[in-house]
Amino acid sequence: MKQTQIFIPTLKEVPSEAQIPSHQLMLRSGLVRGLASGVFSFLPLGYKVIKKITELLREEMDAIGGQEFLLPALNPIEIWEQTGRVEAMGDVMFHIKNRPGLVLAPTHEEIITFHASKHIQSYKDLPQIWYQIQTKFRNEPRPKSGVLRGRQFTMKDAYSMDTTWEGLDISYQKHYDAYCKTFNRVGLKFFVVGASSGAMGGSKSQEFMVESNSGEDTCAVCYDCGYSANVEVASSGITPVGKIDNCPTIEEFATPNSKTIDDLVRDFNLDSNHCAKSVVYMYDSKPILILMRGNDELNETKLEGILKTNNFRAAEGHELADFTGANAGSIGPVNLKTNIRIIADNLLKGANGLVSGANKDGFHFKNIDIDIDCKIEEYYDLRTVVSGEPCPNCGKELKVVKAIELGHIFKLGTKYSEALDAKFLDEDGQEKVIIMGSYGIGVERVMACYLEQNFDEKGIIWNKELTPYDIHILPLNMHRTPEVESAAFKLYDELTAAGFKVMIDDRNETAGVKFNDADLLGFPMQLIVGSKNLANNQVELKYRRSGERVYVPINELVEKIKNEYV
Ligand code: ATP
Ligand code: MG
Repeated sequence: MKQTQIFIPTLKEVPSEAQIPSHQLMLRSGLVRGLASGVFSFLPLGYKVIKKITELLREEMDAIGGQEFLLPALNPIEIWEQTGRVEAMGDVMFHIKNRPGLVLAPTHEEIITFHASKHIQSYKDLPQIWYQIQTKFRNEPRPKSGVLRGRQFTMKDAYSMDTTWEGLDISYQKHYDAYCKTFNRVGLKFFVVGASSGAMGGSKSQEFMVESNSGEDTCAVCYDCGYSANVEVASSGITPVGKIDNCPTIEEFATPNSKTIDDLVRDFNLDSNHCAKSVVYMYDSKPILILMRGNDELNETKLEGILKTNNFRAAEGHELADFTGANAGSIGPVNLKTNIRIIADNLLKGANGLVSGANKDGFHFKNIDIDIDCKIEEYYDLRTVVSGEPCPNCGKELKVVKAIELGHIFKLGTKYSEALDAKFLDEDGQEKVIIMGSYGIGVERVMACYLEQNFDEKGIIWNKELTPYDIHILPLNMHRTPEVESAAFKLYDELTAAGFKVMIDDRNETAGVKFNDADLLGFPMQLIVGSKNLANNQVELKYRRSGERVYVPINELVEKIKNEYV
């Protein structure tokens, strides 16, 4: 392709509308343009990348026996009503005002299950893996991360249908493996986080995450053993506080100026791990006192799991005084005014030598032995993991990182097949409900995640799997140097004939402009054709990722690239 014949509106400045690297790079290198909030047009170069991603996804889905469907984005609302998802999706679903019976599909579980209910009859028709690579519509509240969160985006979604739960396990594993293969091929550094909800039918879901400061999720990862979890549920292998030998007995002391743990540590030269922090929460109109190490952060998601409700809040000043006898800063587990439930973090199990509020303003207790002096009802993992703590699996260092959800695999079970009456006749003639799984990957997100991980100050660094072109030929002073022009076009023809996707910068621009644009566009290899090197029958080959440059005899070039670019 001649560069003069492809529309690539590059930008010199970083557009102010873009806050994250992938969005900035996509705009600067002319891959996309925004049309409305969360709505993007892909320009020719960007669309080439999208097509490469969808082709790769197709290959991996076909390899596990997936069959591709083309499904409508316009869906009858009745089908969605049957599963209760019109309500569950709420504002996220787009409704069509002048055709009220139709909605725009935010995903396709319902439509797949609807077709299965009509056409799958017997166990002989199963298992099935059906997939599509198509546009979804979601009325995301405040899309702000470029194509990472669009209101219209492309998803590869797949649905498995099995006769047994063991069959679902197999289909699920196939997708897990296909996703790992896909993301490895794309060249993404990813990890998988998951949670087993333990609900009926063992519903399980896992998310494929990509480390990126632009992510909306926070995860704890151990790159040594592969442990990873959302910080909402992550734990660490940190050492408990434990017992001090010959600890004296509990004693009250005045702390008139120490309002916070940091004040206490400073004023009395204490170890912050022994300063137990007490927080009081209200749930179901009842108070609960939560005891943790001084500088640990209470993890409200973990608390929700323990209290079995999300209807809780920190107690207010007057409630603190009523239940404990003191104001914030002097609250503790010993000598409470009323008999309230106390739970503590696992790290405090069996600890002594603790310091905590005396439930009397301006006073604390020291030398608290949790087993003797406190009435702890239960111990739980209540704290939020922090970077640098030991991994709960292998003890190596955990990293807490921001991450983007790139893919999601989910054992649906029978939720949709029951609602939409998708049944089959078993071998013994019994009617049974189809057991389903659903598996999604955001296509634009793959591209954006790749960019988040592969760029430098000059621009994009594409790899072979995703790059719109393999080789960028940069003829210098071409319009004034006929031998450069003919050598460059000869190379262009030879490399194209050898199967490479080649772009030649035939613009009448200075060398500097060509170099900068080539680095911004980021194709893996640049071939610089100039008269000086041509005089020695050489061209300069520059590798975009490493920046390395080599001088290659013209007649060896095609062979060299063929051998290297595999
Ligand atoms: P998120 O938590 O980021 O909103 P989700 O849980 O709603 O994602 P799913 O419904 O599981 O996402 O969709 C499957 C995949 O589709 C996601 O893993 C993601 O890659 C992609 N995806 C979801 N919403 C968007 C969006 N608004 N824009 C681009 N891609 C999206
Ligand atoms: Mg969402």
